[in-house]
Amino acid sequence: MFKLILGLGNQDIETSKKIAYIYSQSNIDIIDSSFEVFKEIKKFLEDKSIDTSKIKFCVSVGLLGDIHNKKAKINKNCAKCKKCISFCSQKAIEITNEEIKVNSKKCIGCSKCRHFCSFGAIDIYEENSLENNIEQIKNNTLKPDILELHLDIKKKKKIIKDFEYVLKNYKGDISICISRKYFGIKKIIKLIKKLKEIFDKYNKGFHFMIQADGSSMNNADGEYSSNLEALAFYKELSDLGYDIIISGGTNDKTPYLCKLFNLKPYAVAYGSYARKTALENEKKAQELVLKTAQLYD
Ligand code: SF4
Ligand code: SF4
Repeated sequence: MFKLILGLGNQDIETSKKIAYIYSQSNIDIIDSSFEVFKEIKKFLEDKSIDTSKIKFCVSVGLLGDIHNKKAKINKNCAKCKKCISFCSQKAIEITNEEIKVNSKKCIGCSKCRHFCSFGAIDIYEENSLENNIEQIKNNTLKPDILELHLDIKKKKKIIKDFEYVLKNYKGDISICISRKYFGIKKIIKLIKKLKEIFDKYNKGFHFMIQADGSSMNNADGEYSSNLEALAFYKELSDLGYDIIISGGTNDKTPYLCKLFNLKPYAVAYGSYARKTALENEKKAQELVLKTAQLYD
C-alpha cells in the first residue's frame, strides 16, 4: 500500500491538489491530510475523473504538543538577514515589503528554522485544539475513511485521556501515529496495548492501525540512512500483530530496504520526500508508487 502524506500542518490547498493528482494517476491507496485539505482534494480529484472510491482518505489530527500540530512565527528579534527563507523545505517563509513572515498554510511546524535562526527570532506555537478538530469532523457530512491521531507528546496519561475522548466522539477506522521520541520501546508497547483496549471498547469492528514514525519531517533526499529509524521501529512493533504503516524518513530507498530485510508493512507512507519529488519530477513520483506496489507482489 502506498500512503501519500500531504501533512497535518500543510494547508497549502493548491499545491496539495497538484501533488494528489500526480500520485492518484498511479493507483495510490491512501491520501493523508488535514481535514481542510481533504475536503478540497477529494472534490478536486473527482472533478478530474479520478476514481476516488479506490483511495482511502485519511484525516490527521494532533494532540496538543505533537510536532505535527505546530507552526512557526517570526518575532520582533528578526534581523531580516533572510537566511531562513532558503532553509525552509516547505518554502513557507516569505518576504513581503521587507517583512519576513511565515505562511502558516505552508508551514508544517518542523521547527528546523527555529534552530537555524541565530537571533532567536522564530517562535513555535500550536494551532488547533483536538476538541475543535474532532467537532469539525463530526459536524461535517463528508467523512474521512481513516482518522489518524498524532500522539507524540511526553504525557502518557494525557495520551490515554485524549484517545478515549476521541473514540467516544468518533466511530470509524483509526490510525495512531507514534514515534520513539519520548518513550522506550517497552513503554510504547504497553501504551499501544492500552490504546487498543480502549479502541476495542468504543470502536470494535473498525480497523486499528499504527503509523510507526521514524525520523519525522526530515525531507529525506534519497538517503538509505534516513529510513533506519522507521524500519527498526516497525520491526520492534511487528510482533504485536497489528497493521503497521512505516513513515518518517521514507524515500525511494524504502521499498528496496523493506525487501532486503523482508519487511511487509501494511503501508509505506511518504511525506516530505513524496511532495518534493512530485513537484520536481512527476515520472520519478510515479515510479515510487510502482516500486512500493512491488513490495506486495
Ligand atoms: S534567520 Fe532569523 S533573523 Fe534571519 S530573517 Fe530569518 S527569522 Fe529573521
Ligand atoms: S522550517 Fe519548518 S517550522 Fe520553519 S517555517 Fe519552514 S516548515 Fe515551518
